[in-house]
Amino acid sequence: MALTLAALLAVFVPFFVARAVARVKPAGAPPMVRVPTRAEPAQGPPDIWQVEKTGGSELYSNGLRVDTEFAVGTRPRSYVAFPAGWADSSAGQHRSAAAGIVFHTTESLQAPFEAGENRVLKQAGESLVEYVRRRHAYNYLIDRFGRVYRIVAESDAANHAGFSVWSDTEWLYVNLNDSFLGVSFEAKTEPGQTDSSISPAQVRAAAMLTEMLRSHYGIPARNCVTHAQVSVNPANMLVGYHTDWASSFPFEQMGLPDNYSQPLPALAAFGFEYDSDFVHSAGARMHAGVVLAEEALARRAAQTGLTLPALRKLLQKRYRDRLAEQRRCVPATVGQGASEDGDAVAAGHPLG
Ligand SMILES: [Zn+2]
Repeated sequence: MALTLAALLAVFVPFFVARAVARVKPAGAPPMVRVPTRAEPAQGPPDIWQVEKTGGSELYSNGLRVDTEFAVGTRPRSYVAFPAGWADSSAGQHRSAAAGIVFHTTESLQAPFEAGENRVLKQAGESLVEYVRRRHAYNYLIDRFGRVYRIVAESDAANHAGFSVWSDTEWLYVNLNDSFLGVSFEAKTEPGQTDSSISPAQVRAAAMLTEMLRSHYGIPARNCVTHAQVSVNPANMLVGYHTDWASSFPFEQMGLPDNYSQPLPALAAFGFEYDSDFVHSAGARMHAGVVLAEEALARRAAQTGLTLPALRKLLQKRYRDRLAEQRRCVPATVGQGASEDGDAVAAGHPLG
């Protein structure tokens, strides 16, 4: 679709979510906030199958329709899954199948969602599809009418979460472009907001997409998380470089447990820290995960007889070792520079 620069600028003014590298020092002990952990459903998602496939779309048995007209390929996924836990074992597994989902927002300008704005809403959504496609920014984009666009093929890595960390009960993942699918909503989030601010059509579409992806790849519910939960900045060892979906992701409406209440792996496993900006953005829900991670770290320090700073230093070295191993796993021509969001931001990448 041909769009003039003027049209693009008129309907799509993206904002930076990432904050500058030089930020305030880590905050002191935060107030204790507890959010009850919801038990994960015993059963996984139902079996979802493809019903039909045409030149420009796919239909799935749960009602999901995917527009494939704009889909592009990049390179096959290639990553290392590291054993979770305290043991310093580097016996990782090389893999190529998606292990989780990271939810994003585009952080683009939002016109009022009403009939009188149809022209602007349609133009903004179409511009956005082109924009994220050129940047290989996500695997999926859900526009404000709930239309699901495949951007980068599921089998391929998208540039959605370069410097990032997540863990399930068994495995730890770094730089999730290769290991996690990126699903983005045409939406904008504000620090600490409590309402999700996406349309009911987006909620329904995202729930069906999540169900289909979990069914196809056997993705555990706890590996469906938001960009704010996984984003890190190795330059200053702080979490929350990107803060899209920091406080208001509708996990329950996606058929997922409240994953904000999980201990943040970047803090607990790799000794990252957080600052007052992150506390503000995260709000009460994700703050619970911060507190749980800090408690785990303090228990580990007591068990080992290390001071907290000494334990953090050890874990930070472990992060750098794991990061180096993950980078070795990605082809050299595409594994550096612009494929990682820290560098992409420096080059003007405005997406969340
Ligand atoms: Zn994001």
